[in-house]
Amino acid sequence: MIDSAIVVGGGIVGSSVGYHLARAGLDVRLLDREDEGRATTAGAGIISPATSSRTGSTAWFEFGLEAADYYPDLATALDDYAHSYTRTGLLSVAADADEVGDFERAKTRVERRTEEYGHPTEDSVRELSPAEARAKYPPLADVERALFFEDAARVDGQAFASALREAGRDAGLTVENADVTGVDVENGSVAGVSTASGATYDADAAVVAGGAWSPAFEADLDVSVPVEPQRGQILHLDVDGLDFDRPAGEWPIVSAFRHQYQVPWPDGRVACGATRESGTGFEPSVTLDGLRSVSSEALRVAPGLADATHLETRVGLRPVSADGLPFLGGVPDVDGAYLAAGHGPTGLTLGPYSGKVVADLVRGVEPEVDLDPFRVGRL
Ligand SMILES: Cc1cc2nc3c(=O)[nH]c(=O)nc-3n(C[C@H](O)[C@H](O)[C@H](O)COP(=O)(O)OP(=O)(O)OC[C@H]3O[C@@H](n4cnc5c(N)ncnc54)[C@H](O)[C@@H]3O)c2cc1C
Repeated sequence: MIDSAIVVGGGIVGSSVGYHLARAGLDVRLLDREDEGRATTAGAGIISPATSSRTGSTAWFEFGLEAADYYPDLATALDDYAHSYTRTGLLSVAADADEVGDFERAKTRVERRTEEYGHPTEDSVRELSPAEARAKYPPLADVERALFFEDAARVDGQAFASALREAGRDAGLTVENADVTGVDVENGSVAGVSTASGATYDADAAVVAGGAWSPAFEADLDVSVPVEPQRGQILHLDVDGLDFDRPAGEWPIVSAFRHQYQVPWPDGRVACGATRESGTGFEPSVTLDGLRSVSSEALRVAPGLADATHLETRVGLRPVSADGLPFLGGVPDVDGAYLAAGHGPTGLTLGPYSGKVVADLVRGVEPEVDLDPFRVGRL
């Protein structure tokens, strides 16, 4: 019987684990080092499994559908906190002629998903003329083709994670800033964790939700955690005061076919990104090349952003696993040890639901989804 748990990491995944465990009545402590480069703080916040180009993984897509479905319920439960989750729709555009082939393939993929999974529903997706697309997203280029997905949503990862922690606190969750240096294991079971300050905490269970930093616990838990940081630089522009027909808060998300996107916000921000840089290690820096890549793509897709002002560039380290799927579940030979890590480029989509299912496991409740593809120790 598990009465107490420690969660290592306060990104969107750890915050969700902590919230769900506290709400279930466990004595839970969330310890977070708040590293610079925390992915949740930089994440663009697109929640749209329907438009994902991940064709190789049925497991990812099915879990992604459950996760996207779970969001509105969870957001309603967090309505007293500033969670930011909103359904805005997403415009998928072929901005230039050389993207039309990709556009057609994506459209066929979406139709197949509608047939096979009933998602997206047929009436939630429609092709728009270039003029209709620009009416929705005023700075848009004169695009070749555009598909509108009305079910797509956006979330400010930082705000949502903080809402989860606040609501968790109101249910008894303790949140502390700490650098966890080890998970203490005695006779094959978790006994607690140790921290850099010398403080130790006893607990029946420990959940490692440390994003790209999670492999630090491989030796303690005697398990391989093949997760690496992938750097993402994302530019935040301000369009407030520019002469557009509609305020940015009413614009949908836009994504073209060169792996980048634009996410508008009610305060006049438009987040444009992002780079996907492997091999940069734990270096959350803004580079000239990164700025060039995201700004030139932003202007190609939306030349009307030319007069927008630069607010900031955020940098996050996506926790990318070796097979592209997260690790969700118990560590094979250590009772009470769990991983919720490796969510890569889609952790804002999957994370809140991952947190729920891992919290279920900790409490001994059988999750409602098949977690076998995500099992710890599979690689
Ligand atoms: C530029 C960019 C754009 C993105 N866009 C999207 C998107 O549109 N949609 C989407 O679904 N996903 C997106 N993502 C991915 C998403 O942001 C991540 O997958 C997700 O935030 C990962 O959350 P996490 O909680 O696992 O890790 P993180 O947010 O990185 O949090 C890990 C936390 O653990 C703490 N920690 C680590 N080790 C320790 C320790 N030893 N002791 C104490 N604390 C520790 C860290 O300090 C950190 O606070 C994007 C990511 C980036 C970088």
